[in-house]
Amino acid sequence: YQMGLHKSRSSFDNLKKLLDESDTINDDLFDAIEDLLISADIGVDTVLHFTNELRNEVINKQFENPSDLSETIVDKLFEIYLKDEFVDTTLSFTEGEVNVFLFVGVNGVGKTTTIGKLAKQYKDQGKKVLMVAGDTFRAGAIEQLYEWSKRAKVDFYQKDAGSDPSSVIFEALEKAKKETYDLVLVDTAGRLQNKVNLMNELSKMKRVIEKALPSQPAETLLVIDATTGQNGMNQAKVFNEATDLTGIVLTKLDGTAKGGIVLAIRHLYNLPIKYVGLGEKIDDLVPFDIEDYIYNLFK
Ligand code: GDP
Repeated sequence: YQMGLHKSRSSFDNLKKLLDESDTINDDLFDAIEDLLISADIGVDTVLHFTNELRNEVINKQFENPSDLSETIVDKLFEIYLKDEFVDTTLSFTEGEVNVFLFVGVNGVGKTTTIGKLAKQYKDQGKKVLMVAGDTFRAGAIEQLYEWSKRAKVDFYQKDAGSDPSSVIFEALEKAKKETYDLVLVDTAGRLQNKVNLMNELSKMKRVIEKALPSQPAETLLVIDATTGQNGMNQAKVFNEATDLTGIVLTKLDGTAKGGIVLAIRHLYNLPIKYVGLGEKIDDLVPFDIEDYIYNLFK
C-alpha cells in the first residue's frame, strides 16, 4: 500500500523542499504553495480554501519561519478531509441479508476490475457473492465481468447484450434471494452523454433494487480514475447530482502523482474515498487510509 502511493508524494516532497529552502513567509511563498497543490490536482477551489486557512493560521500563530508551516499544513489537510467527523471507509454490509452494491462510473475507469477485486475479498471472507452484468450496452463489458467472476471464483448473472439493465437486476435479485446470497455486485453502463438519461437509468435501477430488497442498495459507489484529474472531478459532480452516492473508489492511484483529487472530492462533494486501486491485479485494492495518505505526503 505504502509503495503504491509513492508517486502521489512527489509533489509534496517538493512542497517540503520549498518550505526548507524559503527564508520568509510571504506572498511569493503562498503562490508557490498554491502552484504545487494545484499541480497535485487538489483543484483550484480547494487549494484557495486551503491557503486562506493557512494564511489565517500564520497570522494567529505568528509564524515567521517557513519550516514552521509544515505541521500546520498537515493539520489543515486533515481538517479538509475529516471536517470534524469520523469518516468511515468500511462498506456497509449486514450479515444474514442480501447486500447489494451498485457500481457507477464512466467506461475505462476500472469498474469491472474493482468489482472483481471486491468479489474476491468477500469470497475470501466466506461470503456467497453474485456478480451481475448490468452494463448490457456492450457485449465486451459482459464478457469482461464474466472473466473477473471466474478469477474471483464467484457466481455470475447475465442476459444478452441489449437487454434492459433493470430486468437483469430484477432477475438477479430474485436468484439472490432464493439462493441466499450475501452480496450482489452490480455493474452498470457508464454513459454520461446525457445527464437526464443517466439519472433516469440509475433511478430505475434503484427502484427495482428497493422493491426487491427495501434496505438496499447498501452502497452506491462511484469509481473514478485518479489519473484523469479534472475529468474525474467532473464525473464526481455529474454522478453526485444524478444519484445518491455513498462513496468513491479511486482507481489507478499507482499510476499518478496527482493523489490530490482525494481532498478535492471530499471538500467539494462531501464524498468519502472508501477504497483505492493500486494496480491491475486482483489483490490491488485496499481501504483508503487518510492518515497514511496525509503522513506519506511529507515523507
Ligand atoms: P471499466 O470500463 O470501468 O469496467 O474499466 P476496467 O475495469 O475494464 O479497467 C480499465 C483498465 O484499467 C484495465 O486495463 C484495468 O486493468 C486498469 N485498471 C483498473 N484498476 C486499476 C488500478 O487500480 N491500477 C492500474 N494501474 N490499472 C487499473
